[in-house]
Amino acid sequence: MLKVENITKYYGDFLAVDNLSFEVKEGEIFGLLGVNGAGKTTTFRMIIGLLAPISGKITLNGKPIDYNITDKIGFLTEERSLLTKMTVKEQCIYYGTLKGMKEKDILNKLDNLLKKFKIEEYKDKKIKELSKGNQQKIQFITAIINDPKLLILDEPFSGLDPFNVEMFKNQIKEMAENGSIIIFSSHRMEHVELFCKKLVVLKNGKTVLSGYLKDIKQKYRKKNIEVIGDIDVESIKNIDGVLSVTLNNFTYQIKIKDESIASKVFEIVSKGKNITKFSVDEPSLNEIFIETVGETYDK
Ligand code: ATP
Repeated sequence: MLKVENITKYYGDFLAVDNLSFEVKEGEIFGLLGVNGAGKTTTFRMIIGLLAPISGKITLNGKPIDYNITDKIGFLTEERSLLTKMTVKEQCIYYGTLKGMKEKDILNKLDNLLKKFKIEEYKDKKIKELSKGNQQKIQFITAIINDPKLLILDEPFSGLDPFNVEMFKNQIKEMAENGSIIIFSSHRMEHVELFCKKLVVLKNGKTVLSGYLKDIKQKYRKKNIEVIGDIDVESIKNIDGVLSVTLNNFTYQIKIKDESIASKVFEIVSKGKNITKFSVDEPSLNEIFIETVGETYDK
């Protein structure tokens, strides 16, 4: 288990990370969310030991993270850092060797991953000859070539098209299923919602939401109902517990205080005409963020 306990980091007088704590177990995918400058990269640098917190503690399976276990860690940095004159194969041998792997094992793993990411033909191509997306795949491969027990991915999806985002996600999920601890950062809530179970949202270094997504959503209680059809809007608005009714793209969005109100709404909707949709959904993480923090996330 990775345990981050009350870590704080200043750059001079500037407080970049304020008393941050979280835990990630083997097999869990954890999302560290925050807009630009929230403190995500600083947190990652502290986890891998590139920066020291002024207070607090970080341990992996009860031990501090030091040089002895760096071979078991994979880190995809936010700044893409490939040596562009090297070929893909040379680059992977370089990183794999740094992680203490034998060349034969590196090449086996590389063939396997290139095949998986459908870029086998690039093995002997120079990095600079590859497209941005394919360079990112190579950087991802270098981060996972050593089958890391702890994998840290700083904005892994930025700049990727939806097809490649899916490909990365599948690989990450597979590694989690095999017991790796995975932490990734993103400033896009939707990347986190469908993908990780646990998260922290940072704002100016401070934790504003934290825990299992399921619990965060349960605690929030409010739900959204979507209805398509001709309904008696005024009667719905008059139900105690209905917070708002809006019409968007021929779809009524009805916000309710908690799930118990849904049946009262349904009663009125069922008397309407041409009803083609009635669904009760959980609010999005973004909606919860806005309500909790009192402002929009995407500034
Ligand atoms: P982004 O999404 O833009 O990468 P982030 O959440 O990763 O942002 P950090 O890079 O951790 O944020 O930065 C947190 C804050 O600390 C920012 O306000 C940044 O300007 C500041 N900061 C980061 N590195 C340094 C440094 N070396 N010296 C001074 N301030 C720094």
